Amino acid sequence: MADGTETESRKLLGRLREEMASEAAGQERLDRITHLIADSIRAEVCSVYLFRDEDTLELCATEGLAPEAVHKTRMRMGEGLVGRVAQSGKVVNTPDAPSAKGFRYMPETGEERFSSFLGVPVQRLGEKLGVLVVQSREARQFSADEVYALEVVAMVLAEMAELGAFVGEGAALSPLHQQSVQLSGGPAQEGYAEGHVWLHEPRVVVTNPIADDPHRERERLNEAVEELRVGVDKMLEISQGGDKEQLQVLEAYRMFANSKGWMRRMEEDIALGLSAEAAVEKEQSQARARMGQVTDPYLRERLADLDDLSNRLLRILTGQGNTNGSDLPPDPILIARNIGPGDLLEYGRSLKGIVLEEGSVGSHATIVARALAIPLVVHVGRITTEALNGDHILVDGDQGIVHLRPEDTVANAVRDKIAMQAKAQERYASIRETPTVTRDGERINLVMNAGLMADLPSLNNSGAEGVGLFRTELQFLIRNQMPKRSELVTQYQRVLDAAEGKRVIFRTLDIGSDKVLPYMKHVAEPNPALGWRAIRVGLDKRGVMRMQLQALLRAANGRPLSIMFPFVAQADEFYEARWEVNKTIEREKRLGHILPETLEVGAMLETPSLAFAPQKFFDEVDFVSVGGNDLKQFFFAADRENELVRRRYDTLNVSFLSFIAQIVERCNSSNTPLSFCGEDAGRPVEALCLAAMGIRTLSMRPASIGPVKSVLLRADLQSLRKIIADARHRGEQSVRPAVMEWLRNQG
Ligand code: PEP
Ligand code: MG
Repeated sequence: MADGTETESRKLLGRLREEMASEAAGQERLDRITHLIADSIRAEVCSVYLFRDEDTLELCATEGLAPEAVHKTRMRMGEGLVGRVAQSGKVVNTPDAPSAKGFRYMPETGEERFSSFLGVPVQRLGEKLGVLVVQSREARQFSADEVYALEVVAMVLAEMAELGAFVGEGAALSPLHQQSVQLSGGPAQEGYAEGHVWLHEPRVVVTNPIADDPHRERERLNEAVEELRVGVDKMLEISQGGDKEQLQVLEAYRMFANSKGWMRRMEEDIALGLSAEAAVEKEQSQARARMGQVTDPYLRERLADLDDLSNRLLRILTGQGNTNGSDLPPDPILIARNIGPGDLLEYGRSLKGIVLEEGSVGSHATIVARALAIPLVVHVGRITTEALNGDHILVDGDQGIVHLRPEDTVANAVRDKIAMQAKAQERYASIRETPTVTRDGERINLVMNAGLMADLPSLNNSGAEGVGLFRTELQFLIRNQMPKRSELVTQYQRVLDAAEGKRVIFRTLDIGSDKVLPYMKHVAEPNPALGWRAIRVGLDKRGVMRMQLQALLRAANGRPLSIMFPFVAQADEFYEARWEVNKTIEREKRLGHILPETLEVGAMLETPSLAFAPQKFFDEVDFVSVGGNDLKQFFFAADRENELVRRRYDTLNVSFLSFIAQIVERCNSSNTPLSFCGEDAGRPVEALCLAAMGIRTLSMRPASIGPVKSVLLRADLQSLRKIIADARHRGEQSVRPAVMEWLRNQG
């Protein structure tokens, strides 16, 4: 880089810094900045365009174009050269603007007199804020050094915008992050919440983007990078011998931390007059812009690694963001790009709601949020860039909508819904101890699904009569290494203690498909949902199965014990697993451990095949539980995780209900207790129909027990059965319309 440019840019940044320190605000400040940029770059025109809304850019200040055009000239994303810069996030540099692709003539600005055009995006960590443009009459290509200098200035402008330096009249000048926004995502856990933003990883705000002592800044950068390297090396040391993938990530970190190119670019930025943290952020912004364009998953991951590393470096340099959660705002709503289940559990029930920029309905964080009954919305684009710590926020987990800094009318509407929810909760609490007997005298057992220690208080709060499904894999999923047998014994003991004699059905490890243990060798499979999962893994990895069975037997320590094997597709799998239980019992007896008072061993019916198993299976199994989530996906051949098909087939489809009726019949003929433990058990209308088909035990999320009980108490299953039978005879595809009408008529 030419020394001349270096000095020029430094001078320009020096003047910008003076400007930042000046009293001028809003429009006046912006006007002065365009003037000094044009002057320094020796161009006739310098203009700043800022986003007025997500799609509209507005000319907010100019030196050289017609002053009347300010706050009048607007363009959409992608429109004209300015819109092209904004959309692509890339520089446009042309000596002949009128003949460049996308040029749009705007008479009000008088810009036809200018030939050369250089536009650079104003963006901050991937958030598009506007475009900075210089133009000159003379037809010339701006040099690489000039482009670079303008990019540095744009970065400083973005930083100043973040600090509210341009606050003033007009929407485009109104303070960033103060307008109300509504963002949509996917509902992952229902419920409404009102509270204040808590950023899991707060944005670091660079308050000093310009520095006048490059030597000192270079030193600061080097010291910080050294600290970062030592940190990464330490993590690598700790992880040696551990998981291969984790090591690969750390190796990639180390590669970046030692990357000469990365360091060189940041040092060049510093030489131009940026502070060390501004240099890091500039590189990070550019990496994020690239991330948006890269589709290769490997490259994307590496860019994400670099992003993470830059965050760490920024935290070291600024000392910001090293919070320990002790300063959570009142009614905290957690905002994050993504969060691991372990971190989420640490926050626990202190959170009122969760909003994730990424995340997914089937993720482990979702499982935890559901267990804790915290409203959760996933896939909410831009939330981590839009939200600031402490912002007022409303979460609608039913619709998957988030209102950030909401208007009063919106806030009031959501508050009404929250109040209605609270009223319903009161109603459910009042029937908590009432046994579930339908109007026509059928006794239905309502039990709950659980899997985390955090679920245990729900045993009392919900009115559940026991635990119909304890997903033991959750404890395995939220850890970084295989738990020890003794740890499992303690956990299962705590579960049984909390149940105080109520029946708990422990499902053995159900891993595979979407539940991947981070510390187990990952086997790439073309169709994991149809692959090596659940009991199939258990039977192939007997050591793990035995360890879990031993832990269960020891935790029971003389108390009754119920064990259930997941995903049994054919009878032999169950017999083999049962044989393993018997062997473990013998071993435990020999070792002098107290055996359970009673032991039941059941199977989950999650593939249609098991419904057609030989009679011997139904005679021998102690109980059967229908895993409706999996059963439905295989019955209809529709992936439960795939949003395109997930909702296509109704549970109340007559084919599926007939199939359930057949399962009930087979179990009844051998007096085999039967339950249903998929998500549908917790949906009031579905639960009613399942009960009408003859299912007597429904296992569901604790929060569903109140609503399901409340409809069952008022239901006459006999007449519902007739409604269902009639709809079937009429040849309807789903009984839902008929059932809904019947419910409406019942009031
Ligand atoms: C099911 O498949 O219905 C079930 C209860 O198991 P999971 O959702 O854990 O696969
Ligand atoms: Mg299942």
